[in-house]
Amino acid sequence: MKAAILTIGDEILLGQILDTNSRFMARELAKLGAQTVQMRSVSDEKDAIRHAVDEALRQADAVFVTGGLGPTKDDLTKKVLADYFGTELAFNPQVYAWLEEIFAADPKRLNDYNKSQAWLPKACVPLRNLKGTASGMWFEKDGKVLVSLPGVPFETEYLFPAEVLPRLKAKFHGLLLRYRMVIVYDIPEAELAMKLADFEKKLPFHMSLAYLPSAGFVRLRLTAKDEAVERLNPYFETLLKELTGLPYEEQQGQTTEEDIARRLRQTGQTVACAESCTGGNIAHLITSVPGASAYFLGGIVAYSDEVKKNVLGVRAEDLEKYGAVSEAVAVQMAQGARRVTGAQWAVSTTGVAGPDGGTPEKPVGTVWIGVAGPHGAKAQKFVFSHTRERNIGRSSVKALQLLLAEMERNTAK
Ligand code: ATP
Ligand code: MG
Repeated sequence: MKAAILTIGDEILLGQILDTNSRFMARELAKLGAQTVQMRSVSDEKDAIRHAVDEALRQADAVFVTGGLGPTKDDLTKKVLADYFGTELAFNPQVYAWLEEIFAADPKRLNDYNKSQAWLPKACVPLRNLKGTASGMWFEKDGKVLVSLPGVPFETEYLFPAEVLPRLKAKFHGLLLRYRMVIVYDIPEAELAMKLADFEKKLPFHMSLAYLPSAGFVRLRLTAKDEAVERLNPYFETLLKELTGLPYEEQQGQTTEEDIARRLRQTGQTVACAESCTGGNIAHLITSVPGASAYFLGGIVAYSDEVKKNVLGVRAEDLEKYGAVSEAVAVQMAQGARRVTGAQWAVSTTGVAGPDGGTPEKPVGTVWIGVAGPHGAKAQKFVFSHTRERNIGRSSVKALQLLLAEMERNTAK
């Protein structure tokens, strides 16, 4: 789970107070196993808040906002959030009952200022604040969460553990970072293990490094048990430093196909594939995730030019002019897979897996990977130059990674 923290208040930007809410929430999130990717402070101003909220929701699965909830500032944050989530402020009887309880001993103190705090955006679940009059607010949209809390540190420090953390655990169960993964290419497992032997020895008791080798790459998974979760990130950074000089790539989930599954479930979109050199391996990877039928519509193994043309609609002129292993063909294959299946997304591969078939311009290992989506199609070239089995493995993972990257770029709200 990626988190973003947003604090609102001119007093922070003027240097009058230190933003301790961010630190408090970041620590709690780290303990939980979430990864905070952004922290930002903005002024008490509608546009600034709206912008920052929008930006943060692009970057993260969950956004935590503090400040701007007091009754004196015209309830700035509440209005912006109501607007952002497409609802209006409405009187909430439950929240009003909470206020009455707070002022039970002296009901005359429940003035209009306080009463206005019972008006909340319709779209939110109110979070009961036992330390103050401003309730917290929990919003959900497109699988993402936004939480708004009062600026007073004492109140945030009560609400966050009491009302927010339990909901996060329930909502993002399984997404919390108890491990981090990196894929390392072009190095045999044994050699990698030698290189990382010292790093592994220095790992604390509750942390472990797993080697998950596949054809053409090794996945490394650094896992932390409860006690060590907040120390995971610094150790992972050290691990990445140890890998300097090797081609590697960080991965969010256990596997790219699981990341894709998660994203497609979130967005309700579907995917298909058109494979030449990977021969169905991408379809195999996608369908190895349980429940893939919810988002995987199908794949076409278009090995021959005929199938590329007749099934996927690749233009004969382009096959002739550029050859099957080309940008134009990769793009048209992906577009064809979208068209034939009706999926929103499609990924394609066309390449020279080897050992034969290489030429000086297109040596063994040359692969074009295409991705087509609602916003257009593109292709990228790679030269892996390995044995056949490794080429197929690497092309398949790379294709899934490009697909994921495109989906993330285009479906971020
Ligand atoms: P308002 O709408 O009135 O601004 P608010 O919920 O933002 O409501 P403030 O009155 O701004 O609350 O802040 C309450 C107190 O909390 C102030 O003393 C403020 O300095 C402090 N505060 C606000 N944000 C933070 C923060 N991020 N870190 C530490 N203290 C903060
Ligand atoms: Mg404020």
